[in-house]
Amino acid sequence: MTVKLRFAPSPTGKLHVGNARTALVNYLFCKSKNGEMLLRIDDTDQERSKPEYEKSIKEDLNWLGIFWEKTDRQSSRLKNYNDALQHLFDIGRAYRCYETQEELSLKRKAQLMSGNPPVYDRQGLSLVDNDHQKFQKEGRLPHWRFKLIHEEVSWVDMVRGNCTYDMKSLSDPVIMREDGRPIYTLASVVDDIDHNISHIIRGEDHVTNSAAQIQLFKALGGKVPELGHLSLLAGSEGEGLSKRLGSLNLGELKQEGFESITLSSLLAKIGTSDPMKVFINTDELIKDFDLSKFSRNTAKFDSNDLYIMNKKSIQFMEFKEAKSRLTEIGLDINEEFWRTISGNLNKLNEARIWWDVVYGEIDPIIDNSNLIEKAIEFFPENNLDNTSWGSWCKSISGNTDYKGRDLFISLRKAITGFEYGPELSNLLPLIGKDKILSRMSGKKS
Ligand code: GLU
Repeated sequence: MTVKLRFAPSPTGKLHVGNARTALVNYLFCKSKNGEMLLRIDDTDQERSKPEYEKSIKEDLNWLGIFWEKTDRQSSRLKNYNDALQHLFDIGRAYRCYETQEELSLKRKAQLMSGNPPVYDRQGLSLVDNDHQKFQKEGRLPHWRFKLIHEEVSWVDMVRGNCTYDMKSLSDPVIMREDGRPIYTLASVVDDIDHNISHIIRGEDHVTNSAAQIQLFKALGGKVPELGHLSLLAGSEGEGLSKRLGSLNLGELKQEGFESITLSSLLAKIGTSDPMKVFINTDELIKDFDLSKFSRNTAKFDSNDLYIMNKKSIQFMEFKEAKSRLTEIGLDINEEFWRTISGNLNKLNEARIWWDVVYGEIDPIIDNSNLIEKAIEFFPENNLDNTSWGSWCKSISGNTDYKGRDLFISLRKAITGFEYGPELSNLLPLIGKDKILSRMSGKKS
């Protein structure tokens, strides 16, 4: 079987972590089976769909390491949806209805008050020609519903296991609006059939849709793809992410300086039985991918994990990549500098801090001037190398009462302006004798 998956964003906003996770899982599953990936733009909502959102979604997907072989857009396939509707009508599975939103909501209220489930009463199904003419004379246009068969629909979900729906408990879904715009429920199935989609992986908010869509696939003569519904992302305390989604769009996480591999490593593991781990690149993620490890439990997204994991991602970063990325922000680094500082970066742009320490100016912190005076006295005469720090500290502590942590911290603060940082044995030769002595005498340099 040819494996073919699709990711189908609606270009009505930026890509947030929840959708990014769905896209990533589709991509990893697809590529772990050497499949083909389709990006389908679900842009039938003309008012809310915007080209700039489509552009930013595509950029963010690429940034995350997701690529696709084909693109399609629903707005260019309206004829296909109309043809499908006609077919459903011809076989008696689509019917016209005229209720307004208000009338429908009144019906639902009445049903609930009398203790019945708010399932559409199929009034449209009993209309005869005269009724249609009467409504249309009143200026009402019909919307269309798909007539469900009242049976049990079951499937073995790739994530949730056995799923069964009693279709009697569902309303016949609306599939075409009165203005001729198709509804997602129909359009998606028509596309999935035409593109021979073999597997659909999406959020669990679509489980009920899937029950109805299984009947649609069959009514349209298509093969039902394998289905997998991922549990939705929640915050670290299990709270719904939707309130905070605005702050969790990919563009902003990128702007904040997180590496894309940090995010993809995290999103590929949330909701699985595996521990969190940073991968070197997307190929490694693909090799490791196993959909059966995803569970039905809430998938918790904790942004603290991002901070912890990002440090690891940077440690894995090759010098070449670091150099080209840092050149973009004006830092022309060499390999020795990178080796010295990379272990101390939570985010790549923090390299600037250590750049200033090594090549720029800092305000030295002299917290013990007697100690610093002695340190200057015992400063190594020879050119500085990686052994200088050790021998310098040794001669200070051998000849004075200053030693241990207090000594190291005072020297570090004077030389770098920080209490923490990369190994001083590596920093000293990079900073150089003149700068160190000038800083130890308290000068900004
Ligand atoms: N545009 C739909 C969504 O974003 C696609 C759902 C699907 O994958 O079928 O929810």
